[in-house]
Order: sequence, then structure tokens, then C-alpha cells
Amino acid sequence: MTSPHDPVRSIVIVGGGTAGWMAAAAVSRFLNNGQRQFTLVESDTIGTIGVGEATIPPIVNFNRMLGIEENDFMRATQATFKLGIEFVDWYRRGKRYLHPFGELGHDFEGVAFHQFWSAYRDQADVGAITDYSITAAACYANAYAPAERDPRSPLRQMTHAYHFDATLYAAYLRRRSEVQGVTRVEGRIVDVEQDGESGFVTALLLEDGRRVEGDLFLDCSGFRSLLLGKTLDVAYRDWSRWLPCDRAVALPGERLSPLPPYTRATADSAGWRWRIPLQHRTGNGHVYSSAYMDANMAEQALRDGLETPPAGEARHLGFTTGVRERFWEKNVIALGLSGGFIEPLESTSIHLIQTGISKLFWLFPDRRPSAVERREYNRLMTEQYEYIRDFIVLHYKATARDDTPFWNHVRTMDVPDSLAHKIDLFREKGRVLRYDHDLFGVPSWVAVMLGQHVLPHGHDPLVDSMDPARVQQTMQRMRATLTATAARIPSHADYIAAHCAAP
Ligand code: FAD
Repeated sequence: MTSPHDPVRSIVIVGGGTAGWMAAAAVSRFLNNGQRQFTLVESDTIGTIGVGEATIPPIVNFNRMLGIEENDFMRATQATFKLGIEFVDWYRRGKRYLHPFGELGHDFEGVAFHQFWSAYRDQADVGAITDYSITAAACYANAYAPAERDPRSPLRQMTHAYHFDATLYAAYLRRRSEVQGVTRVEGRIVDVEQDGESGFVTALLLEDGRRVEGDLFLDCSGFRSLLLGKTLDVAYRDWSRWLPCDRAVALPGERLSPLPPYTRATADSAGWRWRIPLQHRTGNGHVYSSAYMDANMAEQALRDGLETPPAGEARHLGFTTGVRERFWEKNVIALGLSGGFIEPLESTSIHLIQTGISKLFWLFPDRRPSAVERREYNRLMTEQYEYIRDFIVLHYKATARDDTPFWNHVRTMDVPDSLAHKIDLFREKGRVLRYDHDLFGVPSWVAVMLGQHVLPHGHDPLVDSMDPARVQQTMQRMRATLTATAARIPSHADYIAAHCAAP
């Protein structure tokens, strides 16, 4: 006799892209009770999307949780360190700013540092808010050193993520997953069997007649959304009214020298271009709106902006920004592109895979998932996507650009109420209140708001109770220490050569 409360005996992962192999590596490490089976089905003919090379700091913990040694991973994936993103021409042509990882300054007596910056910003020698960030200082110096534990060291605030070759990362996780007991099945899924009564997915049918049965299915099938979208018909919420870019063209280039420890996002006339430095090459791409630019023009703009000679063929991709109405339906959970996609401006997609996996662990079901667990998972994931959506929309909305129809559209469009409220609150007195589970903390919102010239009219009144001479002295000291520290640490390229260069 089986009961709905029997444990899940077999987990089937559909797809072997970044999402599939991240999920496989995590479930086989943490949910392996000796009796559970793990199977991953992927089709070599269909292949993977093959982009997705920039990440954000939580990936460091994900790798650590999997027992991955950083230098080994970096060598295997041609990775570099990422300390932030530089935005060029977003507010206006000719203007640039950084969104560095980690803290911006440090709070005094319970008041956020940016409030002091805001109060004193018109004084000589105050500089930009990012002059108070060690990661920004390292970006400007093309330098890298790992975080230090010493609370007196400016390097204690060093916070990093990675740029890596997505195909090599999937291959690296595959090797680990297979050692941990995952069976890989190569083949194209042509049909999906469901239980007649409940509609639960019971098995996948492969082109060559093989059948793969399972209790719980992780849909990592990419934009095809084979189980959640196609089989279970969970609708897609289209967010392109706020994020109108719907195409991309990617073109690798030769390696950059010096090697920057940051991603660059340069606004173009109908979207933006990315530049991602890896050890062996540079990832380049152009994300654009097909309503304002055609594919040939987009590719030409990408080629014109290359900083190193091309090192491969251009690949064109299409997408619609948005999310599925539910990420978990019946016994299917979508991870990665099959659940939704927000353009890669802040490199959040791989993080959303990680979030989906960790929330699945919190709410890991029995063989018949309960409705309440599914509801909670869907609530948490939807909230995550909405927070990220708002953060990305901010980059477009808060622009002064009026040089093309695309920028006129995004500058004047309505934005979600949740974002309009955050912008108004920041304009008033620079306040940012971090919401529960919002991926981006106060320093990120502050860096982008100020970078996009959303300038507060006032500041927190508590600032005025501090001695101005003491505040200014402290700020000057902070800035000088960070610049001096960045000047004495190794160059990013030298650090990699010494510790984690790919063979
Ligand atoms: P895919 O890589 O598409 O994998 C889908 C898998 O499903 C494949 O193995 C395929 O073979 C399999 N499959 C599908 N149908 C079948 C079938 N019928 N039978 C068998 N197997 C099947 N994210 C970031 O975090 N940072 C970035 O910098 C970034 N840049 C991006 C740039 C662009 C232009 C785009 C479009 C995305 C970017 N992303 C980025 C997102 C990132 O690429 C994805 O989140 C990530 O690669 C995960 O993809 P996936 O595994 O969900 O899908």
C-alpha cells in the first residue's frame, strides 16, 4: 500500500543546462538517503541556451554548500572574479556608474552611510558614493584580493561573485552529480504521461521508446517549459510592458587585457550590450527590443562595440520577460528559464535557480505534495521575481535619455506601484527599507538610484545631530584607506595567474 505521505523515491530532472545540473548537484548531495533515485534527462540535439555567465555573490555559498573548492572550480570553468557591474550611458550618454557588491561606507551610530553622503554630497572632496566601497575601488584598479577576516582590514568588506563559462560550469556540476549518484539519460522527450485522476506527471517518453518514471519532476527544460508550461498548461505572465527587450545576440571575443573584475553593461539605442571577462575569452552580447531594432542592426551594433576581435559566431536568441503564474504545480517544480525570465542586466537568473532549489529544500514534499507547501513555494518565488523585476525596471525608468524612441518609451512608461513607491521614498529623504527576502539590499538600491540620478531632496534628520567636522574627517579617512588598499592588492589577472588559472 502506498500513502500520499510516503517519501519521494525518485526525482527526475528534465534538462541539463545550468538549471538542470545545479539542481542535480544539490539534490543528490542533500537529499540522498540511500534509497532515493536521481535521474537527469537531457537532449544533446536540443542542447542548452549556452549563455548566462555573470553571477551575483550568493553563488559563492551555493558552491561552498556543494563542497566545491573555489580555485578548482575557477580553473575548470575559466572563471574570473566579479565585484560588481559598471553601467555606461544609462542615465545619459557619457555618464557611467558602478553597482559594486558589498557595503557602501559604513553606518555611523545606527544611521545609514548614504544619508551622510547625501547630506554632504555638495562639499568638496566627498566624491561619488561608490568611492566608499572597497569592491568599487578594486574594480577601478582592476585588482582583486579575497576578503579578510580581520575586522580592522578594509578587505573585510570584499564581496565577490564569478564570471564563468556556462557550458563548463554545467559539465563541472555534471561530473560531481554523477559521482553523487545521478543517472544521466540522453534523449529527446516526446511525450509526458500523467495520472488520469490527479493529473500528476508519472513518466517521460523518449523518442527511442524509453520511459523514465518518477515521483517528483524538476522542470529545467529552458524556455520550452516542457512540463510546467506545455503539459500542465500553467500560464505565463508577460512583463514586457515594463521590460520591452525581447531579443539578444551573443558573440564571444578574445580575452581582455587588463582583465576587469566586473561586468560592463553599456546602454545602446534600443537596449544594452554586455561585456563579461572570462579567462580564455570575453562574453559579449546585445539585449534589445525588436520593436525598435532589427536583428542585423543589433548584431552590427554589437560588432561595432567589441573591444577585442571576435572569437566565434554570433548567436541570436528570443525571449519574453515574465513568469509562470505558478512555479510548482502538482508534482512539477520549474527551475530556471522554464519558470520565468528577467533580462540579465543584474545577472539574476542563475541566482533564481539557486533560490528555487533552496526553497524546495525548505518545503521538500512527500510523494503527494500538499497544497499548502506548493502555495508557500509559489508565493515566495513570485515575490522574488517581482522584487528583481522592480530593481531592473528602475535602471530603465530613471533615465534622462531622450535620444531614441526606445529611451523615450521606457523613461515615460508607467512602472509597477511597488517600484514607484520605492522611488518616491528615496527621492524624499534617501530612504530604502529592505523588504523581507528582497535579494537586493540597501547598498544595491542606493548605488543604482544614485547612479541613475534619483537624488534625495533631503536626508535623515538624525544626520544633523552629528558633528560635521567629525563626519567629514571620517569620510575622508574612509575614502583614502579604500583607495590605498586597492592600490596595494594584486591585479585581477595576477591573482588568477597565481591561484586559479585554467590549464
Ligand atoms: P537551458 O540551458 O535552455 O537548458 C534546457 C535543457 O532542457 C537542455 O539541456 C535541453 O536539452 C533540455 N530539453 C529541452 N527540451 C527537451 C526535450 N524535449 N527532451 C530532452 N531534453 C530537453 N543568467 C545569469 O545568471 N547571468 C547572465 O549573465 C545571464 N545572461 C543571459 C543572457 C541571455 C541573452 C539570456 C537569454 C539568458 C541569460 N541568463 C543569464 C539566463 C541563463 O542563461 C539561464 O538562467 C541559465 O542558463 C539556465 O538555463 P536553463 O538550464 O533553464 O535552460
